[in-house]
Amino acid sequence: MNVEQHHRAPITPASEVAAKSTDFIHTLINDHLASGHYQQVVTRFPPEPNGFLHIGHAKSICLNFGLALDYPGGSCHLRLDDTDPTKEDMSYVAAIQEDIHWLGFDWGEQKFFASDYFEKLYQYALQLIQEGKAYVCSLNEADIRAYRGSLTEPGRPSPYRDRSVSENLDLFQRMRAGEFADGAHVLRAKIDMANPNMKMRDPLLYRIRHAHHYRQGDKWCLYPMYDFAHPLSDYMEGITHSICTLEFENNRELYDWVLDAVGAKEPRPHQYEFARLNLNYTVMSKRKLLELVEQKHVSGWDDPRLPTISGLRRRGYTPESIRAFCKSIGIAKSNSTVDMAQLEFAIRDDLNTQVPRVLAVLRPLKVVIENYPADQTEVLDAPYYPHDVPKEGSRALPFCNELYIERDDFMENPPKGYYRLSPGGKVRLRHAYIISCDQVIKDADGNVTELRCSYDPNTKSGSAGAEDPTVKGTLHWVSARHAVQAEVRLYDRLYTVDAPEGLSDLNPHSLEVLPNALVEPSLREAPPESRFQFERQGYFCADRLDSTAQRLVFNRIVTLKDAWAKKAAKPSAPPPVTKAAPTPAKRTDTRPQKRPKADMVKLSPTQEATLLRYQETFRLSEEEARLLVSEPGLSDFFEAALAVHNNPAGLANWIVNELLRELKETPVAQLAFGPAALAELIALMDDGTISGKIAKEVFEHLLQHGGSPKAIVAEKGLQQMCDPAQLEPLIDRIIAANPENVARFKAGKNNVLGFFVGQVMKETGGKANPALTNELIQKKLNA
Ligand code: ATP
Ligand code: MG
Repeated sequence: MNVEQHHRAPITPASEVAAKSTDFIHTLINDHLASGHYQQVVTRFPPEPNGFLHIGHAKSICLNFGLALDYPGGSCHLRLDDTDPTKEDMSYVAAIQEDIHWLGFDWGEQKFFASDYFEKLYQYALQLIQEGKAYVCSLNEADIRAYRGSLTEPGRPSPYRDRSVSENLDLFQRMRAGEFADGAHVLRAKIDMANPNMKMRDPLLYRIRHAHHYRQGDKWCLYPMYDFAHPLSDYMEGITHSICTLEFENNRELYDWVLDAVGAKEPRPHQYEFARLNLNYTVMSKRKLLELVEQKHVSGWDDPRLPTISGLRRRGYTPESIRAFCKSIGIAKSNSTVDMAQLEFAIRDDLNTQVPRVLAVLRPLKVVIENYPADQTEVLDAPYYPHDVPKEGSRALPFCNELYIERDDFMENPPKGYYRLSPGGKVRLRHAYIISCDQVIKDADGNVTELRCSYDPNTKSGSAGAEDPTVKGTLHWVSARHAVQAEVRLYDRLYTVDAPEGLSDLNPHSLEVLPNALVEPSLREAPPESRFQFERQGYFCADRLDSTAQRLVFNRIVTLKDAWAKKAAKPSAPPPVTKAAPTPAKRTDTRPQKRPKADMVKLSPTQEATLLRYQETFRLSEEEARLLVSEPGLSDFFEAALAVHNNPAGLANWIVNELLRELKETPVAQLAFGPAALAELIALMDDGTISGKIAKEVFEHLLQHGGSPKAIVAEKGLQQMCDPAQLEPLIDRIIAANPENVARFKAGKNNVLGFFVGQVMKETGGKANPALTNELIQKKLNA
């Protein structure tokens, strides 16, 4: 069979990754190598084996392993960061390795476990204690937190901070020996309890955990913390560039402190942060993924709806497409959310020029060609690839008098411009003949069960008579006598909203199983993980686990076009069928929306008119307008509010994003407040009296108790402070009282800014306008 397979990808050629990477990390490394500070690049990918890898990890993998390939002599270590005994498991280690290999990367001999360093790390800890840089603290967890202070308040020293070296050594050794219960003592670095960076306020280095470690067994009951183990593991392995995500920005100072404290000399590792990948319509934290798996909302870590690497693989994504996606999103220093459509684009783009086109009918409707001899079978030579794909090959496609077409491709009473099959109408069958529908057979309930058709023998595809400009539609089909039964699984986004908050946002239609699909006979032996375009339906992949010689199971990888991008402009009219561009699978009723339902409600002519008016007169987006007109009573509410405060965009935005949620519980007519109150609230925001955040607080109050926003704001004293004359004296006072932090700021420690803003916020009860406060403080500090 002439089918491309994508099993194990070859190791990425360096050229593919290196091609003109100009991100800040490459720039940095170019400088480090040019100056001779490092001779070669050594990176690491340090997953914790407490779950499967996801697409976010793929970004980190492509970056770290890619860097090693980009620079001569470079290497990337795989380090299993297994310092937390409670959640780790050998099966995760195996899965992680398989996923990295599948993605096309290899660590060679450089596989390490942080748990192998436990003894060395312990020795480093002893060194710090001996040098007076660490102490055993016996406060409990809550007290440690309380003593640490806050962003706006310095911490207080632990009463155990000045224990003698010998007492610390004795206690620490007894902690290791198992003499104490969990939480009785911890080892802390002795740094600075007033440091504006909270991470530097005597952070924990070790804690007691009487727990079984999956590799070390019960050898240890004392486990190092990430901030201690990570820099030292990097150091021991000779890592040069320790790249992590932005949440660790504040940990960098501690990373350097630890290495300084043990006397590490240059060239030594340094930490750099980049933006983590966030994708909409899914979740990416291992904790949330584990919850979905454990509570069986999905079939396992490799459920094709999950953004895990093994899920994407099972869905049918290629390693090439994932690498291309990671490359396309780039490496940035500020967080953002990437649209799922970009990932889907990457796989379409990869498969478009790779995979054979075949015919499969997902929801079959029988067609009998009455003028075709019943005992005859004709074998058509059908090319696998269209002309613009640089690949060749064809397969035998049997044609006979009994066929199946897609149920959706027939309509008894079609609207104007319908190009598929209808009584008396004509269509071309792909690679075969033009047929016309002569008779519709129905069951006792009036359901269409079969079509009687006739074919024109002079219209065989590729023959002289094939052209008939009056026939506009081309349908896919299979021969009833030769087709193979298959189960087809249609996947959709796992969540209905772009930023899911919990299980209630799960898309109930994320999986649709079609057990009785029929595929052309060439697919009978499709090997697991082989990929196809089912013409007009999408890209599909033979399931790598469930698909066997006895049982064919195909997963839909992705539809042919982005079904989410464009709103169904005319929900009642089916998409046209054209020869050149296959139509996307039709899915008007199950398509989840940012806010479900709006698109599914069929509008009356009056509502349609209002919809248009809102878009044209008020410049609302179609979605906003549709939501406003779909919910009973809401457009009246909107217009009444508009009469009080003329800001259509602001009102619509608030109604759609804040109010609509409430209307699930309470109809418009039963709200505790009316349109005038909402208008007043928006007006208060518009004139700067209150911030958006305070507006939400007031809105909550309105929902509960009704009332007037002006009165609520006045009564609770919620007005924003927007007057520099009001804020400046306060800022001056705070600056004068904190000369040491002013010095830190002048020395380049920009994070001190947060300290000052925090102080102002604290003193004003959160009412200072944050942007203005920030601006004023910066101006004064830089003066
Ligand atoms: P999660 O937050 O999903 O639970 P994690 O950060 O706890 O993941 P680790 O196993 O510690 O998972 O991650 C290993 C590496 O992968 C880390 O270096 C981390 O920075 C990186 N990484 C994790 N998630 C992402 C992401 N979304 N984008 C980019 N890199 C990521
Ligand atoms: Mg982590």
